[in-house]
This record gives sequence, C-alpha cells and structure tokens, in this order.
Amino acid sequence: MDSNKLMAELLLPHITKTPEFYEELYPERNLPEGARVVRIAPSPTGYLHLGTLFMALVNRITADSTNGIFFTRIEDTDKKREIEGGITDIISGLINFSINIDEGFTSPDGAQSGNYGSYKQSERAEIYQCFAKQLILMGLAYPCFCTPEQLEATRAEQEAQKVRTGYHGKWAKHRNITVDEAKALIEQGLPWVLRLKSPGSEENRIVFEDGIKGKIEMPENDEDFVLLKSDGIPTYHFAHAVDDHLMRTTHVIRGDEWISSVPKHIQLFKLLGFKVPKFAHVAPIMKLDNGAKRKISKRKDPEAAVHYFLEQGYDSNCVIEYLMTVASSDFEDWRRANPDAERKSFKFNLKKMSVSGALYDENKLLDVSKNLVSKMPSEVVLEKLLNWSKQFDTEFYELLSRDTAYAKAVFSIDRDVPKPRKDIAKWSDAKAYSSYFFDELFVPDYTLPENISADDAKAFLTEYCKVYDENATKEEWFEAIKQLCPALNFAANTKDYKQNPESYKGHAGHLSTVLRIAVTSRQNTPDLCSIMQLLGKEKCITRINDFISNI
Ligand code: GLU
Repeated sequence: MDSNKLMAELLLPHITKTPEFYEELYPERNLPEGARVVRIAPSPTGYLHLGTLFMALVNRITADSTNGIFFTRIEDTDKKREIEGGITDIISGLINFSINIDEGFTSPDGAQSGNYGSYKQSERAEIYQCFAKQLILMGLAYPCFCTPEQLEATRAEQEAQKVRTGYHGKWAKHRNITVDEAKALIEQGLPWVLRLKSPGSEENRIVFEDGIKGKIEMPENDEDFVLLKSDGIPTYHFAHAVDDHLMRTTHVIRGDEWISSVPKHIQLFKLLGFKVPKFAHVAPIMKLDNGAKRKISKRKDPEAAVHYFLEQGYDSNCVIEYLMTVASSDFEDWRRANPDAERKSFKFNLKKMSVSGALYDENKLLDVSKNLVSKMPSEVVLEKLLNWSKQFDTEFYELLSRDTAYAKAVFSIDRDVPKPRKDIAKWSDAKAYSSYFFDELFVPDYTLPENISADDAKAFLTEYCKVYDENATKEEWFEAIKQLCPALNFAANTKDYKQNPESYKGHAGHLSTVLRIAVTSRQNTPDLCSIMQLLGKEKCITRINDFISNI
C-alpha cells in the first residue's frame, strides 16, 4: 500500500464510500439554461438579522429572475455558539417575510425537503470525511498535531522575524509527517486536525470575476489551512466547497467578509475536481452615524434584529419592498413604471448592487411603507392591526376587537379611494392616528389656532350645534359651516377672504378647523364629516360643549 493510502486508512478508517458515490447520489440538476442555484447558509447562533434577511432576499430574487432554485442550508458546525431555537427563528422569520424557500430547511418546524440533503452540516460529517479521505489519498492533506501553544509560539517567532504569519511552507510543522510518525502520535492519544497540503505559492496570482465587485486579483493560497477539526467536523472553507459542489450551487452569493478566503475556496474546488461556482460578495448594509458610514451593528443598532421591525409594526411586505430598493439601484424606477406588478417579475441583476454597502435609511422605509399601507383595503388593515396589537399593544387590541365593525370604519375613512391618505407607516402609528375615535384614548386639547378668538370659537360652535345634521352629505356639511360665516364676520368663500383679508376675521376653513379641534383635538385629520358621522352626534356634541366650556 502506498503511504497516502496508509495515511488515509490510519486517519479515516471508517470511511468506506468514495466521492463517486456522492456524485451519483447528488447528480447535476436538470434546470433550464441560465437558471441559477443559490442559497443562504446561516449559522443558528442568533436570531434572524437584517443582514441575513437581506442576503436571503438577494438570493431569492436571483433565483426568481432566472427560474432557478433558492435553498437554505444550516451551518451548525460550531455547536458551542448555537442557540436553542436558532433554526426555527431564522426559517420562520424568512417565511414571515414571504421569502419562499424552495429546498433545504423549508419549514419552521425544522423539516427539510429536497434531494440534496441533509441540508444540515452536522448531519453530513461522513460526506466531508469522504472527500477529506480523497485529499489524503491524493497526498493533499495531512494530520497536524500542533497544540494551540505551539501554534502561538510559531506565530510569535514569525512576528519576531517579520515574516508573514500562518501555517505555511517551512512553518507548517507536520507538512511532511510520515505515516509512522502520525501513528505513533495517535497512539499517544494526541488530538489532530486535518490540514490541506497547499500546493499554492504566494508568488502566483489568482483572478476571479466577482458578480458584484468585478475583477478581483489576489495571491494564491499557500496556507495549510484546517479542513477537519479534531472532532472530525469540517471548517467553513471545506464544508463550503463540498456542500456547494454536491448541492450543485451555481452562484455563491454571500457576505463580503468572505472575499479574502476566496483563494482558499477556489483552490479547494480545483483540487477536488469540482467546477468552481460563480462568486458574488455582498457588502453589508451601512448606516450613517454622526455623518460617518459604518456597518449596522448587532450590538448597537436595534434595527439589526429583524424582530425590531415586527415589534414596530412594519408590515413585512413593506420591509421587503424597501430592502429591494437597497438591493438594486434600478428597483425604484421599475416600481414607478410597474406600480402593481409582482416583485417576482423584476429582473434582478447583481451588477446593480452597491459595491461598498448601501445605506439603511429609516425615513425611506417609512415612505415606502406609508405608500403601501395607504393602498391596503380597510379589512386588510384591520386584520393586520389586530394581529400586531394582540402581540405588541394589548390595550389597543382590546379597543379594536371590542367592535370590529367600528374599527374597520375608522380605518376606512379616506381609504379605498384613488388618492388615499398616507398617515400610517407602521402599525404602531395607528393608535395615535385613531386615538380620538376611542374615549379611552382621546385627550382633549383646548388650544385654538392663533387667528381665532375664544369668543368667536364659542359663538361658532354654539350655533353649529344647533344646525348639525349627522345625515348631511359632505357638501351639505360644509355648507352648514359656510352659512354661519356672515354672522361671525368670516368669509364663506376662501377666495373672498384672500381678495379682502382685512374685511374678515377669517374664512370657513378656519372655522372648520375649530370644529376639528373640538371633536378630535387635532388640526389635521382625514375627512371631518366622515369622522363626525362615525363618532355619532351625541359624542360630537358632548365634545364640542366640553371644548366651549374650556376655552
Ligand atoms: N455560515 C456562513 C455565514 O453565516 C455562510 C456564508 C456563506 O453563505 O457561504 O457567514
């Protein structure tokens, strides 16, 4: 037996399958020309983050634009950092944001689907070890017995000599270890990791075309990096190459913190005889902090956790629509031209992504949301509002669910019309927006506009109560206010007032504002006639009388 074979049997005796077995088990996908197979590979080490949601969206729209496949793979090789419920939180989060998953972890209950599984790395140890064994057989991998202290000592020595740190070339202590030496150390019970015996040289350059950043040139990898850790579990680099090959990923779209590792990855793909996928490295979403651009931080920024958006009551569809504008510089133009089209029909191009990191802009999110919420029919608004408030504002939930027909009517005013009002961006805005419809929330405000005296306001409101007809149409309703104008020396028509402002104390619009404040305690509301009808005559008159006695 040649020494590579002896080494392979010494290190991984339990591996009996060959790479061919897996090549057959996971055949090339039969997809139309141009279809891209993409994925996200989150680690269940925390809750769903904005960055992961964004990455999932970018991958999803890549698959949608090419009739491809988007799958999820769970990278759970770091058991120490894993948190309970991490997988559920990520997958259910994506589903709540309507990111469809074609394959892999497709359901929050942890169920997997698809022919390329398991999609959980901890369940694939044997597969990685099979390909590791292959590399040993090819003389491209060897066991390293260095302790952390020895590695640290090497590093210190390299620093002292001012040479590049790392496990490479002559510094790679076990690079030429023999089978007998390895056997003796194993018999002593020493733990080992499997390292790549890198055939690369720092002198050589590799060039690749990044789907977002364009042409990138870097030195070839000469580091004997770890493939399998001492527990037989792979490092990210090795698992990435094996998984993305066997899962037939065509495009690896991932965070740009991985760019510097691309030389290692390309090397692995090539040594293993795999076709190198296309890479596209996405810059993180940035934020302006005192005028300076920085990455959104999981530690500092509440919006880094997707939960923030749900708690604030942002509709998931609004968040996704906003993230589309972050993802693609031409999405907004497309949306203007196709206001009602399904997002799926947008042709996404990775080249339209920001190279340095797009800015997160909450004001823009608010704008996008206001627009979309304004187009929602009132029954949808109520349903979503009930769902949100049940979880995040039980006081408001009680008020809404007490009389849902009334609540629906509240959110119908100036909605379902060609030019709906855009007052609500997120469900947490709805309480303040509608507070005057509920006695429990209504806080009177007796402040008059500057140009109206208390006497005039009182006189107007007193007369108004006498003529208020709750069955009046909008026109009749305003006509009634106009009728009261001459006696108070207000202009019934704004035009008359504008022509001769000195001749009047104000105009009918000013008086309607007084009425608006008395009934709603706001200067600005949706259609007041509709509001008053919904509140009912009795309540309106009570509020007006209360106002009169307090100004
Ligand atoms: N688990 C890796 C990460 O979360 C995945 C990177 C990739 O998409 O390959 O960064």
